[in-house]
Amino acid sequence: MDPKNIRNFSIVAHIDHGKSTLADRLLEITETISKRDMKEQVLDDMELERQRGITIKARAVTMRAKVDGKEYELNLIDTPGHVDFQYEVSRSLACCEGAVLLVDAFQGVEAQTVANAYAAMEQDLAIVPVMNKVDLNHARPDEVKQEMEQTLAIDPDEVLGCSAKTGVGCDEVIRAVVERVPAPTGDPKDTLQAMVFDSVYDEFRGAVTYVRVMNGTVKKGQKIKFLQAGTVHDVVELGQFSPKRVARPQLSAGQVGYLICNIKSLGQVHIGDTVSVATGEPAAKLAGYQEPKRMVFCGLYPSDGQDFEQLREALGKLQVNDPSFEFSPETSDALGFGFRCGFLGLLHMEIVQQRLEGEADIDLVQTAPNVTYQVTSKDGEEIEVHTPQEVPDHGEVEEIRQPIVRVNFVLPTEYIGGIMKLCADRRGEYVRTEYLSATRAMLVYDLALADVVYDMHDRLKSITRGYGTMDYEVLGYRAGDLVRLDILVKGERVDALSIVCDRRDADTRGRAVIKKLKQEIPRHMFEVALQAAIGTRVIARETISAMRKNVTAKCYGGDISRKRKLWEKQKEGKKRMKSIGQVDIPQKAFLAVLETG
Ligand code: GDP
Ligand code: MG
Repeated sequence: MDPKNIRNFSIVAHIDHGKSTLADRLLEITETISKRDMKEQVLDDMELERQRGITIKARAVTMRAKVDGKEYELNLIDTPGHVDFQYEVSRSLACCEGAVLLVDAFQGVEAQTVANAYAAMEQDLAIVPVMNKVDLNHARPDEVKQEMEQTLAIDPDEVLGCSAKTGVGCDEVIRAVVERVPAPTGDPKDTLQAMVFDSVYDEFRGAVTYVRVMNGTVKKGQKIKFLQAGTVHDVVELGQFSPKRVARPQLSAGQVGYLICNIKSLGQVHIGDTVSVATGEPAAKLAGYQEPKRMVFCGLYPSDGQDFEQLREALGKLQVNDPSFEFSPETSDALGFGFRCGFLGLLHMEIVQQRLEGEADIDLVQTAPNVTYQVTSKDGEEIEVHTPQEVPDHGEVEEIRQPIVRVNFVLPTEYIGGIMKLCADRRGEYVRTEYLSATRAMLVYDLALADVVYDMHDRLKSITRGYGTMDYEVLGYRAGDLVRLDILVKGERVDALSIVCDRRDADTRGRAVIKKLKQEIPRHMFEVALQAAIGTRVIARETISAMRKNVTAKCYGGDISRKRKLWEKQKEGKKRMKSIGQVDIPQKAFLAVLETG
């Protein structure tokens, strides 16, 4: 295929603006899929993606289209629309020369519209701005065009209108892709250089590697080398997606497709790696390969300790399909044996948890999420911790650094005050406000990821009555006035209850935790002191006073069957207690605290 007749593009949009529906329409118009075989949202083929209506994994599909009598090969590369998968987004975009920027004609520009449009512009892609859902009778095309101009400097005259639902205007989208997106450069006769932008696991064939050939040609049976990984493989099969895999004899410069090389695990295929020749001088490595960073951690425990092995198996299976998720066993005073799990972000965490519950049928207890901290100890040692209890003791810590994110909020102007207050309460650093139109604005703040993870999304939705959207990008780690806050029960530290927080929040947080514990821990024969402390300094305390009378005394000695019932009940309650020192703490108490952070 002559590169001149190839167009590689993505569709980028805020969630629900119609990306999948438009992709379906394009597949239909180009007769890549017959109307008969068309089931809605072909590209989202994972069950969960269907349920949640979001695209988790980037896909690629090859279409053929005729414009003005000339035939073109159009490769649509689907990108995950969410910030958690930003690395995959940027790799996918790097395989394209253009992007269709899709905006809902009623909703207008939203947080992820901005984030995704910026990402596409950073890669110097030609932008084809398209307003979708023009069939809606409450569409507000003029204002939406104005918002696109205001935030993204898009010329309103260049914005196409379409309805992915009815098909109106979708032909023009194809024409605009052919006319406005540049053809790929690259020479099929050069040394092979291809970018790995995704991989999926096939039960029978192993890893299926998605590539965009930048230069040269790759052929079936050829020996290739992954430059970053340093591994050499035989190409057993290669081809394109239409949208099912269709084998081809070769792929050349500008084309997008897949390679199957008998690779047994996804862990061996790195997104962003460069494929080149195994013999002779290989091509240059393509721009930076970067391991996706796990930023958010939480503990996952089986409610029933018996399910531990089953949980391990289920987590292992998940990881085969999603190497960006990691887990390792841990034990907790409170919850017994479980796993510490690392995620790219909050949405990623939610998706993994849902998959586990859907596919493995294990009842799970999830601890409050926390972020990764970098700690410098007094003797200069650098460590990275994924759980608060790993933070060294107060006296040994020189500095604790936490991830900082830049958050974009897009919201109706009447809620600006509410969100500003929320961010100020969280010690956010104000960056700027941009007005998209007379009624909508984008508010930008730098915040600690820990605060964003905590409940920012819920608060945004409640303050803006569901009209606000947010997105964030990680800026890096910054030192904060952070402390490890410990909880002591009758003088003993309960490690599962330690938290890391800003020193100025420590009082409030500490008091809240021990108040909760006081409600949940039953009285004992002796007094139980509850304390919150930073190092050896106690900052809050409560006491559970000793039990005065025997519980059964309430039964006035008479009714023996009632007494027996009470004893049975106590025994049952005992089972789910953990003893810390001599104090029995019901599991419920731990959960109440862990679940609220
Ligand atoms: P995605 O999250 O961007 O992939 O969005 P989807 O393609 O899943 O679409 C979200 C919702 O909008 C679905 O309920 C679609 O049926 C609906 N939708 C998509 N395009 C149109 C359109 O042109 N008009 C109308 N009225 N609804 C649409
Ligand atoms: Mg979708």
